[in-house]
Amino acid sequence: MSLRPSILDPLFAPANTLPGVGPKIAPLLDRLLGEPGRPARVADLLFHLPTSGIARELKGSIADAPVGEPVTLAVTVTAHRPPPPGRRGPYKVLVEDETGDVTLAFFNGHKARLEKLLPLGERRYVSGKIEMWDGMRQMVHPDRVLDERGLATLPAVEAIYGLTEGLSSRMVGRYMGAALEKVPSLPEWQDSAWLRRNASPAFNEALAALHRPDDAKALTDEMLARSAPRRRLAYDELLASQLALALVRSRMRRLPGRVNAGDGKLVEKLRELLPFGLTGAQEQAIEDIRRDLVSDKKMLRLLQGDVGSGKTVVGLLAMASAIEAGRQAALMAPTEILARQHFERIAPMARDAGLSIALLTGRDKGAERRAVLAGLSDGSIQIAVGTHALFQEGVAFHDLGVAVVDEQHRFGVHQRLALGAKGEAVDILVMTATPIPRTLALTYFGDMDVSVLDEKPAGRKPIATKLISIERLDEVVGSIGRAIQNGDQVYWVCPLVGESESLDLAAAEERHEQLQSIFGDCVGLVHGKLAGRDKDAAMERFSAGDTKILVSTTVIEVGVDVPNATIMVIEHAERFGLAQLHQLRGRIGRGSRASTCLLLYKGPLGQTAQARLEMMRETEDGFRIAEEDLRLRGEGEMLGTRQSGLPGFKLARLESDGDLLAAARDDARLVVERDPDLTSERGEALRVLLYLFERDAAIRLLRAG
Ligand code: ADP
Ligand code: MG
Repeated sequence: MSLRPSILDPLFAPANTLPGVGPKIAPLLDRLLGEPGRPARVADLLFHLPTSGIARELKGSIADAPVGEPVTLAVTVTAHRPPPPGRRGPYKVLVEDETGDVTLAFFNGHKARLEKLLPLGERRYVSGKIEMWDGMRQMVHPDRVLDERGLATLPAVEAIYGLTEGLSSRMVGRYMGAALEKVPSLPEWQDSAWLRRNASPAFNEALAALHRPDDAKALTDEMLARSAPRRRLAYDELLASQLALALVRSRMRRLPGRVNAGDGKLVEKLRELLPFGLTGAQEQAIEDIRRDLVSDKKMLRLLQGDVGSGKTVVGLLAMASAIEAGRQAALMAPTEILARQHFERIAPMARDAGLSIALLTGRDKGAERRAVLAGLSDGSIQIAVGTHALFQEGVAFHDLGVAVVDEQHRFGVHQRLALGAKGEAVDILVMTATPIPRTLALTYFGDMDVSVLDEKPAGRKPIATKLISIERLDEVVGSIGRAIQNGDQVYWVCPLVGESESLDLAAAEERHEQLQSIFGDCVGLVHGKLAGRDKDAAMERFSAGDTKILVSTTVIEVGVDVPNATIMVIEHAERFGLAQLHQLRGRIGRGSRASTCLLLYKGPLGQTAQARLEMMRETEDGFRIAEEDLRLRGEGEMLGTRQSGLPGFKLARLESDGDLLAAARDDARLVVERDPDLTSERGEALRVLLYLFERDAAIRLLRAG
């Protein structure tokens, strides 16, 4: 149940409650602005900002009117020229002023309607673009034809909107007018000094200024980027998100933490057992974590590091610290296979250090499972590795000190809340390989402390990346044959064909068959439709070297580590996101041998596709790739949201509002410090803001306490 203040009700009413939005229009607005299962609402419409504007004020004469630009002219109608009977062609209306004449052309023009619209000899106002046609001025389908009265009601600037089929900017503008009238006068949630400093209008004034500007130039992209009204709304939006994050953070911190470190002997012992020395970045991260663990505040830290940067060992040492303090530790992986792999890699070392460790996944049943559960609850198992099954009901720890979450993907505040609820005093380390660009990190992780592994372990050989047309498949197959004779192993990833996984599967099966007919039984196949155990078995055969070539769909577990695999073939590489290509490529180059990534593409490549693939060839830096991806594709797509602009944001823009993001974070932290329960006057207004931008999950925390 939402406790949204009723003052916001008009904004959250469905758009079909607006005058003029009937059953025909409503679905169009839903398509444009709604979400699956949720219609477009008045607020969605209001936050749909114009992309440009057209000046409608009367300007100059026909002779002076610029060609190809929108103009509004005062003219007299001099002739009607319907197309000759039986012939196709436009219906023409000739108009003039003292300086010259223009032919208005209407295709499928209706005679009676046009005679009424443009009566012979009358004065009318037309707006549209003039083009030269056969040396004559022509205006095809004027946007507007108005009489004196119509002109008086014409806004000086017509806002142009992003549209969907069936809607015009003028229609959207009309509904927008109705929506603007619904905007209540809301309490000011922004700091008054900030508003003054930035010459910011009030929330409702900002909306009006954007949708009903006085000057068309105010809506050019460049001006919008800097415009005080848009920046005000962007700041509102950013502050709402940063405040929500800050509230989560403070709530987590307010919970008493515990010291999760002992004498350091166990951590030291594990370090000695490592077959390698740690990188500087790993040392730094371990130091950051140790500082968190020896303090009695709760740890909430993100360990961000590219694939292969060595996050696991950092997580392991954090867990060891909890065990030193006499508690337990848990490592949670997003999938079954990754959980197993973590377990297999960590268990020998843990056991050498004298620790008891167990695996728990959803697949474990029966006596084995009962034994693990018993060990966890009586404390005899010190380290638990598993999937989310670890945090399900019925799993009780004797005394959990540290939880490490190996998260391949970004995750939202909601999941973080769930995690926090599992163990009130647990120190949390989240590991992510998602190369969130630096410019975005703040938006997602504003509430967490961050350690970055920006250094690869020594001795890694660079991966040679090549772009090869699919037409040269035979050569690729030939060179792979030579490579497997040399003892190399190959991942062969088949493309995303379409919407359905069965299509992907068909492509992979076909490639598997073809390669098998050439290379025999050493070609394996793995895909998402396989049962868990069969998937594991296929991966294990590859891992053990029984399989030399592993054909897969994109659903293979990208975290799996097979050091002997040195070749990655990706078919239809042009269909993948850069981030995805980077993750896939990260599967190779893990051992001491040189590795090669072959990006097979189907030409001809467009300019952007070409630039993206070349980016892959140029660099192995996941952050650079992510930033470039963002630039090339528009921010929305990378993280899977539809909108452009900051992912998950409607008003804030990545290019122009970076400063606001930082300011909003500081502002939010200050608010939470001074008024943690949002009870001051500004605090009350900020609650409204959180509801307005639907970040109100954080408000439940206030209530809970
Ligand atoms: P990721 O950050 O992708 O999870 P892993 O923790 O799986 O990376 O580490 C990748 C590989 O690098 C593993 O085989 C691991 O043992 C190894 N590794 C980790 N740290 C170092 C290091 N400092 N020097 C050499 N190899 C390392
Ligand atoms: Mg990993």
